[in-house]
Amino acid sequence: MDRVSVSEQMDTATSQTAAEAGRRRTFAIIAHPDAGKTTLTEQLLLLGGAIQIAGAVRAKGERRRTRSDWMKIEQDRGISVATSVMTFEYAGQVFNLLDTPGHEDFSEDTYRTLSAVDAAVMVIDAAKGIEAQTRKLFEVCRLRDIPIVTFINKMDREAREPLELLDEIEKTLALDVTPATWPVGSGGTFAGVYDRHDNSLRLVAEGGERREALDGPEDARIDGLLPHGQGDVLREGMELASVYPEFDLASFREGHLTPVYFGSALRGFGVRHLLDGLAQFAPPPSARRADARTVAPEEEKLTGFVFKIQANTDLNHRDRVAFLRICSGRLRKGARLKQVRTGKSIPVNAPLFFFAKERQVAEEAWPGDVVGIANHGVLRIGDTLTDGEALNFRGVPSFAPEILRRVRLDDPMLAKKLRKALDQLADEGVVQVFRPLDGSQPVVGVVGQLQLDVLSSRIQAEYGVHITFENTSWSSLRWVATKEDGPQDRAVLDRFLRTAPSQMAEDHDNEPVAFFTSDWGRKRAEEEWPQLRFLALREQH
Ligand code: GDP
Repeated sequence: MDRVSVSEQMDTATSQTAAEAGRRRTFAIIAHPDAGKTTLTEQLLLLGGAIQIAGAVRAKGERRRTRSDWMKIEQDRGISVATSVMTFEYAGQVFNLLDTPGHEDFSEDTYRTLSAVDAAVMVIDAAKGIEAQTRKLFEVCRLRDIPIVTFINKMDREAREPLELLDEIEKTLALDVTPATWPVGSGGTFAGVYDRHDNSLRLVAEGGERREALDGPEDARIDGLLPHGQGDVLREGMELASVYPEFDLASFREGHLTPVYFGSALRGFGVRHLLDGLAQFAPPPSARRADARTVAPEEEKLTGFVFKIQANTDLNHRDRVAFLRICSGRLRKGARLKQVRTGKSIPVNAPLFFFAKERQVAEEAWPGDVVGIANHGVLRIGDTLTDGEALNFRGVPSFAPEILRRVRLDDPMLAKKLRKALDQLADEGVVQVFRPLDGSQPVVGVVGQLQLDVLSSRIQAEYGVHITFENTSWSSLRWVATKEDGPQDRAVLDRFLRTAPSQMAEDHDNEPVAFFTSDWGRKRAEEEWPQLRFLALREQH
């Protein structure tokens, strides 16, 4: 083969990768529990032709449940593998919707999932506005400047004034808003929305909505289309809406501006609008920063990272599915990928592709796609996989947990087994594990109590080890790092770690952490050790 044809072939491969990457839209839905995430997911899947009936997601999905339900779910874990990624096609694009757990005790899972998306839909309950979990999840999106499309849901119920809701988003999240639509009434009087982009009225109608094209908000036909007096209310509303900035694609994609849609997921109203907005504005996979260099999606060589691990149903085999977000190149069935952390070669013989219509095994996947790779505990969260290049993606975050418990083992003969269990469950991201420098029993860190219950029940069921948890006096931890990477600073770090070995530990990746009993104590340490950094967030590698 002469040189020209080789380069021509490469061009073709690259342009196919560019084209396939260009039509991927990978996103997640962020919401406070009960705002309507599940209902909206279902409606989106209906529009994408991925499911036929409403209720399909609810039947399978991870709903907020009582504790015993969660235990049951943990036993039926295979189910949540199926709903973790939902792929559907719409308007010529391939949408990958990554699911996030509903319960806030599992919010770490959500944070990690957000590291694998290119956009997010923020669902807000029209009667409640911004709630605690909305804000937390938004802050995680902000860390990565993820563009956000906002859906104000439940307009078919009594809602707060649109202006009040928009102001709240703008002020509490410090995010510019631009209403893409403006609602007419709410609750029993909810008649529909005015589309500010194409000047049409979308009216609530049998089975969804009906579109009426107009010349603008002054169009007299509005009064005939809306209930008596609502036309004037709408025109007033439109005046108010005009104080907000115009939609600006660059500003949206930088995560500074959110277009806001009003609707009712339950009634299927406003959902197509939202999806059209996503199709039009949400970005395709973009270049991603790795330690060695920045990786462009259209590159021919494959790169990706693992952001989630899911244990399989079969407890005897300890099979696990690692979710790989592809960042560049094409993944072919049967490929061998390099696990950069260890240098191992990982065969990808039966990647799971998640096309929600049916679990078909596709032959290939592209940037923006997520595939499941079955493995026996080799892959862990944060792993980068490549065609051979040694680079690591950053950005799968670990947050300093606030619930810290000492693991107590009833039978000391099982210490080795416990160690293995904790290692594997930390790989999966079920808990964070810390090993105190004084050699005492390991400490686990979680966001919520439910995680502890899941941990002990899994260690019992899968490893046959009974553990309990002991309270500690610690209320926080920080990863401790040097400011510079020189030997002097490392000596300072070692000195710091020796000051109180019982309050220092190593995390799962052997990175040093310090435990603190109070904010005051932590601040004092920060003051006394100015050469060191005390970090509440760590990006895994
Ligand atoms: P999630 O916890 O965010 O997944 O919320 P769900 O989708 O499960 O919805 C929570 C509750 O709100 C359920 O009872 C839904 O039927 C209801 N719901 C969701 N969307 C709407 C809506 O647009 N209007 C009304 N009236 N109820 C809704």
